[in-house]
Amino acid sequence: MADGVDVQALTAWVREFDRLVAEHEGELTGLDAAIGDADHGANMHRGLTAAVAALAGTPPADPAALLKQVGMTLISKVGGASGPLYGTLFLRMAGAVGTDEVDAATYARALRAGLDGVLARGKAEPGDKTMVDALGPACDALDQEMAAGGSLAEALRRAATAARQGRDATVPMLARKGRASYLGERSIGHQDPGATTTALLLDAAVTTLGGEG
Ligand code: ADP
Ligand code: MG
Repeated sequence: MADGVDVQALTAWVREFDRLVAEHEGELTGLDAAIGDADHGANMHRGLTAAVAALAGTPPADPAALLKQVGMTLISKVGGASGPLYGTLFLRMAGAVGTDEVDAATYARALRAGLDGVLARGKAEPGDKTMVDALGPACDALDQEMAAGGSLAEALRRAATAARQGRDATVPMLARKGRASYLGERSIGHQDPGATTTALLLDAAVTTLGGEG
C-alpha cells in the first residue's frame, strides 16, 4: 500500500477504532459522568462493535459501501447524540469517496466532508467543547501536510497530534452544545468525551491507514 487506502485498510481502521474505544470505554464513560450522563463509552463501544460485526458478516465491496455501512450501523445502534454525529461523519465520508481505492487527497477531502456533516447536524461551532474541537484541527493539519506534499502517513500523524491537542484544549472550554451545556460554568475544567473519542479515531488511522500497521 503506497499512499492509497483500500477496503481492507478501511476495515482495519474501523476495527482498530473499535479496539481503542473498548480499551478506553471506562475513561470515556468517566469523562461523560463528569459533564453528561455517563454513557459515552458504552454508546460508542456498542455502536462500533455492531459496525465491526456487520463488516465481518457482509464485507462491503468498495470504500464508499464500507463507510456507508459503518455510518448506518452507528446511527441505528447508538441512542445518544454521538450515534447520529459519528454516523453522519462516516456517511459523509462515504459520499466523498468512490468505489476505487482512496488516495491521500481524497481521504483528506472525505474527512473534511465528515466534519462538515457533523457541523451541519449538530450546529456546534469551534470552541463549543465538542468533538468538533478535535476533528476540525485534525482536518486542518491533514490539509496542511498534504498541501506541503507530505505522505498520507505523515499527514495522519500530524492530524492525530492535532486531534489530541484539540481534545486537551476542550478542558477549559465552556460547553455550548449537548448535555454538557446544561452545566454552564460547571462544564469548565473537564475534558470533552466526544473529542476524546475523535482523538482515538485519528490514532487508529495512523496505525491502519498510514502504512504503520
Ligand atoms: P449524549 O450526550 O446524548 O449522552 P454521548 O454521551 O454519547 O451522547 O456523546 C456526547 C458527546 O457528543 C459530547 O462529548 C460531544 O463531543 C458530542 N456532542 C454532543 N452534542 C454535539 C453537537 N451538537 N455537535 C457536536 N458534537 C456534539
Ligand atoms: Mg452521554
